[in-house]
This record gives sequence, structure tokens and C-alpha cells, in this order.
Amino acid sequence: MESDFVDGIAVSPGITIGKVYLINNQKQEIDKSRIAEDEIQAELNKLSKALSQAEKSLHNIKKQTEERFGPEKAEIFEAHLMFLEDPEFITAIEEEIKENRLRAEAAVSKVVDQYVQLMTQLDDEYILARQADFKDVGGRLIKIIKGEKSNSQKISPNTIIVAKDLTPSDTAQLDSEKVLAFVTAEGSRTSHTSIMARSLGIPAVVGIGIELLERVKNGQEVIVDGTDGKVIIEPAQDTIKHYQNKIEKQQQELERKRKFVHKKAVTIDGFEIKVAGNIGNLSDLDVVLEQGADGVGLFRTEFLYMDREQSPSEEEQFEVYKDVTIKAGDKPVIIRTLDIGGDKELSYMKLPDELNPFLGYRAIRICLDRPNIFKAQLKAILRAANYGQIKIMFPMIAALEELSKAKQQLDLCKEELKVVGKEYNPNIEVGVMIETPAAVMIAEELAREADFFSIGTNDLIQYTIAVDRTNKKVSAMHSPYHPSVLRLINKVVKTAHRQGIPVGMCGEAASEEILIPFLLGIGLGELSMSAVSILSVKEQISKWSRKDALLIAEKVLELGSSKEIKDYLSEVIRKDR
Ligand code: PEP
Ligand code: MG
Repeated sequence: MESDFVDGIAVSPGITIGKVYLINNQKQEIDKSRIAEDEIQAELNKLSKALSQAEKSLHNIKKQTEERFGPEKAEIFEAHLMFLEDPEFITAIEEEIKENRLRAEAAVSKVVDQYVQLMTQLDDEYILARQADFKDVGGRLIKIIKGEKSNSQKISPNTIIVAKDLTPSDTAQLDSEKVLAFVTAEGSRTSHTSIMARSLGIPAVVGIGIELLERVKNGQEVIVDGTDGKVIIEPAQDTIKHYQNKIEKQQQELERKRKFVHKKAVTIDGFEIKVAGNIGNLSDLDVVLEQGADGVGLFRTEFLYMDREQSPSEEEQFEVYKDVTIKAGDKPVIIRTLDIGGDKELSYMKLPDELNPFLGYRAIRICLDRPNIFKAQLKAILRAANYGQIKIMFPMIAALEELSKAKQQLDLCKEELKVVGKEYNPNIEVGVMIETPAAVMIAEELAREADFFSIGTNDLIQYTIAVDRTNKKVSAMHSPYHPSVLRLINKVVKTAHRQGIPVGMCGEAASEEILIPFLLGIGLGELSMSAVSILSVKEQISKWSRKDALLIAEKVLELGSSKEIKDYLSEVIRKDR
């Protein structure tokens, strides 16, 4: 029998074998038969019991989410609870039972459908975004009324979750002891599922395409290779054997790498490279510190703004940043200001629909346009910086004026904090993310105004090669090995050195193992990445001398195509190590 291989986007590494559990695509069967008059009370009782049970379980989920992913991810369930407690909603369902003689499940289904319809007509982006939450609440109620088990109750050990996409409530309820991996039809590296999978440390493949959902069945055996982005349905015996060997090798490798948790990343000839972690919330910080990170090279703060009704206040952000910096101790934490737009939406910000969102209203452009939101964050960061080694960094800078304006806002925040007598760090270091070719070309000028640079390769690649980082059709072109990208990176590093400021890299390219000798050779001082890559990168760094790496980097900079560069780097890694 042939194995059925499917390609997707690798978003959380590791390989695992388990049984499929499909979520989302089972449509609920509703009993639409009419009831007799003497059944009305029983149906009303069923409804009221289901309402209080749903409320209880939502409180539990909220608590679990808070513990596992932090309070900001738990807020969405507050909204679910509000729907459940809405008297108008409850009365409408009761009326359907009493007047139209519907069963409780059919009454809920009808009223939810009516509400969803109404929400669509309102044409309000915020309300539209709440539709999914509303359907989630309705589905939960119907399940309880029908006495069905929730997804989490049905999941047996060694489960691979396969879904169109996962809602935060699906993800939060999954028992990480039983769930071995995630596979989703939709999603990108920055989707919720991917980020949560990485923080849970389980393999995940996303973007496998909607057709696949038709082909997999509950209970089928699948292999998920989150390292190479492959899903193998009903693998043949020889494929299983091949992957079992790979898993064994992976475990041995992991054991070997564990010694790097307490070791610094030092080259053979004694140069230390800082290996830091990328985080999106406080619990990610635990994981990167467990892996022995030298600090946080990128705190993607936009995740604090998601799954909620309005942007977090200065006070709320201050508490999170303070906790992060206290937990990090004497290790530095680079906080990146809000980077929303592009593929990251915030319904309550009512961002306009755009033809080219990555080239439009995004990141620093939004922050400079909405000073209230920007200043709340800047003040929170300035105040938290009083408690530890916090630095601040601005994303997507494409012009010197943007940096000057952002710094003006920062100065204004300092003055305002002084007036109200709140303590802050007046000497906070200010960094610039180098993510656009424009920033590379004016790096000299930017360096005079900045304390450090951090290269965001995910965006630098997309803007250099003109390749949308989320478009599956062109994802093969989104490569860090393109000579233009590597030459731009080299130019930034050389400029920073000339100007005497530190430069690091926090895009995904920083964890490409075969690229490490090049990155060392051009003189990068810090590499920042997801927790899962930290040990591998530390180990790789320890295998090279700066001297050899320099020669390799010189050779790479002479090569003219991605293929030549990738082949050459693969070859030197294979040959020398
Ligand atoms: C990048 O663009 O490389 C980066 C680190 O930022 P993000 O992936 O959050 O856009
Ligand atoms: Mg970016």
C-alpha cells in the first residue's frame, strides 16, 4: 500500500504518529420536530440546565486558559459568558419553545441563526468578528442539550487534531497530555494555532488545504512531521518504520542538545553569540528560559491586543511587561511595539480592507496615526523598564522620519510620566527593526538615531523578493537564501558595526541551521528565535570558528542564486561537521 503524503506549512517542529480526531467539520444534527403542549416545561427545564452547565464549563475554560496561556487569551471567554447571560437571547429561545413548540436544541439553533443573520446585516467589522464567538456559544449549548460530549472529553490518548482551523476555545480545552499534534487546513505561521502549538511544544502543520478534510476520517492513523511540514495519512509499514527511526533519532538528538541549556553559545575560537527567544506572552517566556535563552530578542506584543474587545490599557500592559522583565531577571528583553495590520487583524481597530495589506496600513504606520494607542504602550514599556533590562524596538521602519516621529512620541511620554510622578527609565535603549529594503539603504542614517538594530527577515524577504509571506502559491520563493536578501543582511551588519551599534536577527532565518556559518561569518552578535530552535542553534554555533565562517560568508556573497547558496551551505555543513 502506498502512503498518502500531504504538504503543508511546518510551524512547530517534531514528528509524531497518532490517530485523527476531526474538529469543526461535523455539522450538528438538529431535531426539528414539534413538541406537544405538555412537553414545553421539560424543554424549558432542559434549556435552563444547559445554560447553567455551559456557564460553569466556560468559567472552567477561562481559568484553564488563564493558567496555560495568560489572562489576555482568556478574555475571549468573558465575551462568551456575556452572550450566555444576555436576557434577550434567553427570552427569544424560550419564546421559540413556548410559541412555536420547538425542542430546546432547535430553538437555540434558530435564535443563534437569526442573531448571526442580524450581525451580518449590520456590516460592522467588530460585530462581524463576534459572529464566530456567538456560533461557538450556540454550538456549546446545543451539545449540552443533546447530551453530547465536548471535544475534549472525546479525545483519547495519542490524538492528532485535524481541523479547518482551531478557535482559541478549541485550543485551550485540548488536553496536551493526550494531543500529540495539530493539523489545520488553514492558517499561517502567525495564526493562533501555530503560536499556541509552539508554546505547548507540540508538532504542528498548517495550510494543508481544505480538500484534505474530506479525505481524512476519525480514527485514521497519521504521521505529522512538523519539522518538514508533512502529513502522511494511513502510512504504509515501511513509512511508519522510517518515521519511527526519525523519531528515535530526534529523541537522541534532543538528549544530546540538552547540555546546551546551561551553556553559552561560543564559537571554537571563543566568540560568544547571544541566543535569545521570541515570545508573544508571559508563558512563552517560561519556555524560552527553560531552553537556556540569553534573553528575549523579540516580544511580539500584538498578541496582548488580540481576542478582546478593546486595546489593553497602559496599566494592564505595564503589569505584563513588568512581570516579563522581572521573570527575565538580568537578561535583556526587547519589546517590539504593536505590529498589527498585514495578516494580523484587530477587529476593534476597524482597519480598512486593503488591496495590499502588507504594503498598507501596518505596524509603525498605524501607531503613528493613532497616538493614543501608541502612547499607552510606550508609557507602559517605559515604566516597566524601571524594573529590569527592557529595550524598545519599532517595527517596519521604512523612513528616517518614522523613527524620528516614534522617538518624539517616546520623549512626549517621558515628559507626561514625569508630570504625573510615575517612575520610568529615561535611558531606555531604542532599536529599529530592519525589515524593509528601504531601511537597509538608509541604515547609516538610522544607526545614528538608534541604539541597536534587529533584522526581521520574515518581512525583509517578502519586501525584497516581492513575495507575500502568507501566500501558499509562492511560499517556495520566500527564501532567506536569495542572494539579494543575504547581501542586504550583510550590508546592515557592516553598517551597524561601522556606526558602533549592536545588531541581531529575530526573523525565522536566525534559526535556519545551515545559514548559521554565514550569519556568524558576517558578524551578527545576537540571534533570536522560537523556543524550539534555541538548543539546535547553540549547538550549531559551537561547531564553527569565526575564521572559517568568515570565509564561507565571503563565498556565499559571491554566489548568484538561492539554489547555489543553499547547495553550497548544505555541502559545507555536511562536509565539515
Ligand atoms: C520579521 O518580520 O522577521 C519579524 C521578526 O517580525 P514578524 O514575523 O512578527 O513580522
Ligand atoms: Mg516583521
